[in-house]
Amino acid sequence: MKVLVAGAGIGGLCLAQGLVRAGIDVRVFEREPGPDSRYQGFRIGLDEPGLAALRECLPHRLHGLLEAVTGPLAGERRVVDQQLNEVRRLGAASGGTAADRHVLRQLLLAGLGDRVEFGRAVAGYQQRADGRVEARLTDGGSAVGDLLVGADGVGSAVRRQLLPGAEVTALPGNALLGRTPLTEPLSGLVPGAGTLVRGADLSLLIGRMEFRRPPRLAAAELAPEVELPDAHSYLRWVAMLPEPLSPEPGAWAEVRDRLLELFDGWHPDLVELVRRSDVGNSSPLTIRYAEPVPHWGTGPVTLLGDAIHAMPPSAGQGANTAFRDAALLCRSLTAVHRGEAELAAAVEEYELRMLERGFAAVAEGLARLAEFTPAR
Ligand SMILES: Cc1cc2nc3c(=O)[nH]c(=O)nc-3n(C[C@H](O)[C@H](O)[C@H](O)COP(=O)(O)OP(=O)(O)OC[C@H]3O[C@@H](n4cnc5c(N)ncnc54)[C@H](O)[C@@H]3O)c2cc1C
Repeated sequence: MKVLVAGAGIGGLCLAQGLVRAGIDVRVFEREPGPDSRYQGFRIGLDEPGLAALRECLPHRLHGLLEAVTGPLAGERRVVDQQLNEVRRLGAASGGTAADRHVLRQLLLAGLGDRVEFGRAVAGYQQRADGRVEARLTDGGSAVGDLLVGADGVGSAVRRQLLPGAEVTALPGNALLGRTPLTEPLSGLVPGAGTLVRGADLSLLIGRMEFRRPPRLAAAELAPEVELPDAHSYLRWVAMLPEPLSPEPGAWAEVRDRLLELFDGWHPDLVELVRRSDVGNSSPLTIRYAEPVPHWGTGPVTLLGDAIHAMPPSAGQGANTAFRDAALLCRSLTAVHRGEAELAAAVEEYELRMLERGFAAVAEGLARLAEFTPAR
């Protein structure tokens, strides 16, 4: 069996790791020219099921490194006002793990070698008379496999062809994603699992990414064949504004200065958080989510992660569900590989469970969105 994957994001790579582990032939096509070619790093919170799915796909020899380069995500999530007075508690997070997307992605590339082809975007596909599928690449190339998995994120080219009526909605307003080095004075901003600052015209969601060990050093010691970035602990924050900044600013330095005007009179530590934001790792963010779709007739093309059920970050589940999709699909395909199941039936079973779980998480994220939007 040969599996083609569109997209080397964290979901597609997790699937590829699991398939390689099961002895299944896989090729991954990634649009970006390389793993570092655009800003890739923000903190994601993983829950126990998400982490278990990731571990299930990763080879055992990398489990120690995964533990070393993630961080704790525990304690109270609190809501504060713009002077940092506590307003409310949202409950404690238990058993969570904070991971940096860029570090995770580099870890997930370990050992995949030339199975991952960077700079090769999937344009579409064609079902063949023999039941197989041919993926068409924008560079004019193509590849034939038994299954094509669209793991190509929220703008998925595979989904556009498979489900032309599927809709993705962009949230109105504006979100800005910032990253600020974790320093002693700023660490008090997030004493627990997360802090939400609710201002009248702007709200700020702050999370902490504190690596247990510096990723590059941990890799050198625990798995020297893996190259991890020289990343340092940071605070990740998302500022939600009711309207886009107008006129639209250009570079982050300009965005930051405009944002600072809105922080006039706020607690000095919050002003400092924005002022010290890292120019290379902060950017405006469009929040999009997928409208639910019914199950389609199963064929040699399927979808995974944000490509099918993109959700707002308020769900805290996008990466978790992408990993769970990957592990579930991997289990189904392993059964086919072992001769214990038929491909079409195995993929259909995956799709039904993936759709139910994925769109339940989208709905939950939308229901929680109001908590994160500015008070006025
Ligand atoms: C600010 C923020 C905070 C978040 N916090 C959390 C959190 O706390 N917990 C959580 O679980 N989730 C969180 N998420 C969501 C999570 O990051 C995503 O759901 C997850 O990255 C989705 O993974 P994916 O592999 O499906 O898609 P992606 O990671 O988007 O990967 C898709 C890949 O496909 C490639 N691609 C696109 N088009 C093509 C093409 N035509 N051909 C080939 N390749 C293509 C892209 O370049 C990309 O590499 C957060 C997201 C944001 C923005």
